[in-house]
Amino acid sequence: MLGLMQDWPLLCTKVLDHAALHHGRREVVSRSVEGPIHRTTYAAVRERALRLARRLDMEGIGRGERVATMAWNTWRHLECWYGILGVGAVYHTLNPRLFPDQIAWIMNDAEDRMIFADLTFIPILEAIAPRVPSLRKIVVLTDAAHLPDSTLDLVAYEDWLDEADADFRWVEVDERDAAGMCYTSGTTGNPKGVVYSHRSNILHSFIAIQPDAMNLSSPSRVMPVVPLFHANGWGIAFSCPMVGATMVLPGPKMDGASICELLVGERVTFSAAVPTVWLMLLQHLQASGALLPDLQRVVIGGAACPRIVTETFETLYGVEVVHAWGMTETSPLGTLNVARPETAGQTGEALFDRKQKQGQVPFGVEMKVTDDENRELPRDGKTFGRLKVRGPAVSSAYHRGTGGEAFDTDGWFDTGDVAHIDENGTMQITDRAKDVIKSGGEWISSIDLENLAVSHPDVLEAAVIGIAHPKWDERPLLVVVRRPESALTREAMLDFMAGKVARWWMPDDVAFVDEIPHTATGKIQKMALRRQFEAYRLP
Ligand code: ADP
Repeated sequence: MLGLMQDWPLLCTKVLDHAALHHGRREVVSRSVEGPIHRTTYAAVRERALRLARRLDMEGIGRGERVATMAWNTWRHLECWYGILGVGAVYHTLNPRLFPDQIAWIMNDAEDRMIFADLTFIPILEAIAPRVPSLRKIVVLTDAAHLPDSTLDLVAYEDWLDEADADFRWVEVDERDAAGMCYTSGTTGNPKGVVYSHRSNILHSFIAIQPDAMNLSSPSRVMPVVPLFHANGWGIAFSCPMVGATMVLPGPKMDGASICELLVGERVTFSAAVPTVWLMLLQHLQASGALLPDLQRVVIGGAACPRIVTETFETLYGVEVVHAWGMTETSPLGTLNVARPETAGQTGEALFDRKQKQGQVPFGVEMKVTDDENRELPRDGKTFGRLKVRGPAVSSAYHRGTGGEAFDTDGWFDTGDVAHIDENGTMQITDRAKDVIKSGGEWISSIDLENLAVSHPDVLEAAVIGIAHPKWDERPLLVVVRRPESALTREAMLDFMAGKVARWWMPDDVAFVDEIPHTATGKIQKMALRRQFEAYRLP
């Protein structure tokens, strides 16, 4: 017997229809690339997205074709996503911080037909566009007055858009059709194309807005500092309009002062970003004495959130920190660390210890840890193994079938992270599988050692890598960037760590460097660091 309920397709454009109809006057506030603050509404964004879809249709862009964006978070970027979706095409966000060669490779792999780009990125495009034969048009997100001279044939967005009216109906697609694309940053080999569907984006938004996830609703005033080009923009382009939350978009300026100005001036209640952004903000707050009277909660993920960030936010500024874990492949929300009845009321050390962990899955994500033979490991909060996930917003394959070994026949995706899960379902990442240090048949967590090292007041940044060892296979080397003027020595560093980790986890040596290499998403680039220390011999 079949259920007799309607087959209402889960399409991304329906989210904007809903927002325009039921929250039409709610604002979308942006810092424009040209400079001034720009204010619009969901009703106006929908009207312009309809024009954009019609204009793309006139351009000959059809269902399933990829249209790239290389843009900051602004109302125009939001319009692009919905306009592209509305003509049945696929938004493909490009990370401008990647090397130009990598961007060109990605655009060719995706076969992008058009690109919408911010003024900021014209020099990058001038270098790569001639190497992308599929690319037919470059639209710059500005008006004719701001359009610079270029070696490329550029079109100004506002004028291009003016050539169409809004008399258009969203192209009907299947909810399983591709909606968006985002490439993983390729810290291991070539980048891999993750392809979201309309259905996965909608289900991901239902997951995201839950109280035990991002807890979004119409009174929320949300500032996604995380760029739309990082891991599907953490789904915020869909979850905000779904509940009618006000959006505050920081445009190109993500320094502490600019973020603070918007947080305070626009009375932002909720924000989301990677730890480095928050470190910059907290430095600014400490230097300027500014406070954050309206900000209630920040979601911090993309890399392990340093304890100092959580402690400072919560104790000095009264802002609740939700530490979260996710990946481009998980749309991206995987786990979030929120209070449960078992942990409610925690304060001080116990609270901050808990917040070091990456948290629990909301409904819609399944998670387990296994050993290398795919045997599930106990949920005891200490046995760590490969973290695997599945769910309706988790990748089932990569574009063109690359990286197939990450997907097993039962639908589990091997995240490449190493973690443990406790009896309450709280997960903690101990490492990336390729970064974990294998010593005498046991694993040492580089993240735990790094967290400990950076808690030393003289340490600016720390990374731990495995160095080949004749007897133990690998042994940990601690690489440290000291604070300027610090005279921290190897011995003092090791003394500080002794007694705080198992003796056999202690780094065999400490190397002081001026700088640690980072990826385009601001993470420590362990592969480059391992190359840098290839010839290094432990004492
Ligand atoms: P990329 O690898 O391209 O930078 P992703 O954003 O998809 O892009 O990276 C996902 C990875 O980031 C995860 O597999 C994990 O290793 C790491 N990560 C994400 N959130 C956290 C977190 N809260 N703590 C530790 N690591 C995290």
